[in-house]
Amino acid sequence: EQTKRKKPDWLRVKLPVGKEYAAVRKLVDEHKLHTICESGNCPNMGECWGAGTATFMILGNVCTRSCSFCAVATGRPPEYDTDEPRRVAEAIRLMKVKHAVITSVNRDELKDRGAEIWYQTVVETKRLSPETTIETLIPDVKSNWDALIRMIEGGQEVVSHNMETVERLYKRVRPQAKYVRSLEQIKRTKEFGKRTKTGIMLGLGETVDEVHKAMDDLVAHGCDILTLGQYLQPTKMHIEVAEFIHPEQFDSYRDEGLKRGLKYVESGPLVRSSYHAERHVNV
Ligand code: SF4
Ligand code: SF4
Repeated sequence: EQTKRKKPDWLRVKLPVGKEYAAVRKLVDEHKLHTICESGNCPNMGECWGAGTATFMILGNVCTRSCSFCAVATGRPPEYDTDEPRRVAEAIRLMKVKHAVITSVNRDELKDRGAEIWYQTVVETKRLSPETTIETLIPDVKSNWDALIRMIEGGQEVVSHNMETVERLYKRVRPQAKYVRSLEQIKRTKEFGKRTKTGIMLGLGETVDEVHKAMDDLVAHGCDILTLGQYLQPTKMHIEVAEFIHPEQFDSYRDEGLKRGLKYVESGPLVRSSYHAERHVNV
């Protein structure tokens, strides 16, 4: 059991250092922004921040949900900050980000799920940086389909919504979400005309067949792009890693996903939904 849980070599990464990293750090702090890179203790911070890119998290840094893998704080969020869209857009402009990834916490207590702030963030980013392409990794709107449309009509190129895991593990991993509801959200996003994307974490105890089934469900609901990465436990308080998936298995999932009809599959131990996101704009 112990050796099974010991981090294998392929998950070792470089520590974040260097000039670009420091510049991103400074901008994020000065603009009082939140990033999922930091909240999620992402292993790719050296690479992404070193290349001048980051994933911004809007609508604050307190989430109404308590997914068992996630390091974002759970609670009742304070009033949201109406100046946040401007600051995010300004940071993206100053960083000269070519492809911006924006995500948010869940704000289930808000009637519009935070859709207006989402919309303004996208529009303001496009206004200040017309050449920048945008991926929005949006939360579960809990079947508020008007909120969904507002979230995705601001002109972003890619709309992602993470399934996170296979159907059987939802109760343990994403207790406030529903597998079929998230699939429907992806379907409606596709019907609105957007490029759709999702992410699944591996190593939570899912079987190969269950992953393949999720791929089929995603294709049936109009999902274009899938990212698959190894789940890593952010703290001892979070759900344990059940298994470290071998890189060859990640390769086999990529082949299988493409065979089953996905347009693009990014699959590897260190893949996160925002990893290599710039490659997904033209899929
Ligand atoms: Fe941030 Fe995503 Fe890069 Fe991780 S992979 S450092 S979350 S942009
Ligand atoms: Fe974390 Fe998102 Fe779940 Fe909130 S909804 S706990 S931010 S994964």
